[in-house]
Amino acid sequence: MQDLIRQLLTELGEDPDREGLMRTPLRVEKALRFLTSGYRANIEEVLNDALFTVDYSEMVIVKDIDFYSLCEHHLLPFFGKCHVAYIPNSRVIGLSKIPRLVDVFARRLQIQERMTNEIAQTILQAIDPRGVAVVCEGTHLCMSMRGVEKQNSFAVTSAMLGIFRDNARTRMEFLELIKLRTAVMTPTSESASLVCVND
Ligand SMILES: [Zn+2]
Repeated sequence: MQDLIRQLLTELGEDPDREGLMRTPLRVEKALRFLTSGYRANIEEVLNDALFTVDYSEMVIVKDIDFYSLCEHHLLPFFGKCHVAYIPNSRVIGLSKIPRLVDVFARRLQIQERMTNEIAQTILQAIDPRGVAVVCEGTHLCMSMRGVEKQNSFAVTSAMLGIFRDNARTRMEFLELIKLRTAVMTPTSESASLVCVND
């Protein structure tokens, strides 16, 4: 990979042998491998030992989970907050595992919509809850840095499954608890991650 990065630097008009860039290919490779480590994570291992049977049926919420991902169209970062909620049937996930799960899907080449859905579907499959809700709010550098559609560089995506999809009151309770920065709340709102490929 480092040879390719050296070649890329040359293509960009740089001298890969100048002092400041000498170790750049090594650093870039390390960074890219870390930022895509989600491909090599094993979901079952992540959740292992953290699934519990309980007698609890209230909403479980983990909000303001930081995420950092890479837009698959430009390989530029998008990042922000992710809010996750579910209503258990009889099983719960250890709370500390939810941010780990977000990392697993964020550390890949992504679009925000897919990442949001993957987090929700994984929780659905792991504990079969009455419902799962995931909302992600992300700033897309591929939009803001390139000066494209600046006003749309912030995107909100959501996945509402089970009772969060079927019951407006449950959904509203969740949205009230996370106090969204924007009012956009339709499940398939137009978002920057799709807009970013229209150029
Ligand atoms: Zn992009």
